Amino acid sequence: MKKPITFLALLFYSFFAQSQGVNDPLIGTQQVAILPFDYAQDGNHQTIEVLEAGFFTGEYSIKNFIEEISYGKASIDGIVYPYRTNQPPLFGTGYTSCYPVDEVIINQPDVDYSIIDGLILSVHANTGSCAAGTSTFGKLPFNTIDGFFEFRRSGFRTDFYFPNDFSEITSSTVAHELIHSFGISFHSNSYIKVDGEYTIQAYGNLFDIMGLRSQASHPCSLIKQQKGWLTDNEIENVSAAGTYRIYALEKTLPGQTQALVIDLPEELDIQPNDAILFNKLYLEYRGLTGFDYRWNRNVNLSDGTTYINDDPHGLLIVGADCQLNDDFCIPVLIDTHPEPIGGVGANYLPHEASDAPLKLGETYFVDNNEISIEVVNVVEGNYIDVSINFSALSITEVSGIDTLKIYPNPASSVINIDFKEAFSFTANLYDLRGRLISSNFNSKNIDVSGFTNGMYLLEISDLNSSRKIIEKIIISK
Ligand SMILES: [Zn+2]
Repeated sequence: MKKPITFLALLFYSFFAQSQGVNDPLIGTQQVAILPFDYAQDGNHQTIEVLEAGFFTGEYSIKNFIEEISYGKASIDGIVYPYRTNQPPLFGTGYTSCYPVDEVIINQPDVDYSIIDGLILSVHANTGSCAAGTSTFGKLPFNTIDGFFEFRRSGFRTDFYFPNDFSEITSSTVAHELIHSFGISFHSNSYIKVDGEYTIQAYGNLFDIMGLRSQASHPCSLIKQQKGWLTDNEIENVSAAGTYRIYALEKTLPGQTQALVIDLPEELDIQPNDAILFNKLYLEYRGLTGFDYRWNRNVNLSDGTTYINDDPHGLLIVGADCQLNDDFCIPVLIDTHPEPIGGVGANYLPHEASDAPLKLGETYFVDNNEISIEVVNVVEGNYIDVSINFSALSITEVSGIDTLKIYPNPASSVINIDFKEAFSFTANLYDLRGRLISSNFNSKNIDVSGFTNGMYLLEISDLNSSRKIIEKIIISK
């Protein structure tokens, strides 16, 4: 009985994939209809003029954004229809509970469904917790009052943006949802270190509109390749040692390399305890021009201070997990500085990847592949030069700090610091407000009997390599 079921499933899948057009390039102008719904009717809805500027005519419009990120290969055009105020709210359920149901979507007499590629619902309503945006992944069939048509459907809540003026600030959620509707069903995650293990952060790539976007930023090179915006003319496959120049991803430079792809001879398994395996690496340079320039890169740290990333120029290394389908790899930003930012970490985990880029003079060793990647030159906002070596020995020198044992935890009177290889170190104990309460040099026992119960941070610094380890310590008596 197994075979027919598999066969049916395959048939269904191929029909589904075809009708969604998920892997298809997105080239040319997409005709969209913007349908604003004012269910709240409290006078706070965004005006039609603001919506028109936000979508089509303003400097920071979604149209300009799509044209910039696609290097002019894609665009949107269309009509902002009048507000629907006389229709009863007919919401869906669950996560998308703030968006009108299909019955509403397909019954709008003034919309010509035969000419649209996409329908965008702008909803102003007094609804509680629900998604800021929603979208189909590609085109879906709808049985409209004009007949059967396939189009994309996206929605967003205008309430989410007040008091922001949509005509002055690109709506990153609208941009994000639109790109979903272009067939991108995944998010741009990041790989950061938490409690000594690499862990996936959903939406963790802050440099990518499909990650955790605070403002409109370009999608990564992998997404641009999938959508046909970066072609073989602009993406260079690297298999030989050498120095390669990568131009800023935000710039329109046809024919110049804007991403390098390294097909890994061996799968890269950074964290053996999870399912992520990288088959390729995408290397790209964010030059902070165009829409990316406006991105706010300040990160709130868990001790209440702010990490100001005022030198974000660097190489992004995006691992591609292609286990299911080589045409459909999932991008994951690799944090090349996995230690906690500022020694304490960001108060919101995805922001830990803010320091992900590899900086000038730094080298990243690709585990298991004898590949090294070094940034050898940066011309800010223009290009970056990267030296790639395919016979690098990525032997990590083991120093004393790697052999540390800290115990007991919780501790009541003494914390013991033990190691197999002797090394010179300082051991500083901080409270959670960042105040230094005990400083010790090469001491294997720290007296904590005088401190009150609670959580503390023990920072051990290797004085030769300047590497640090920070452990949470609980004092409990
Ligand atoms: Zn999303």
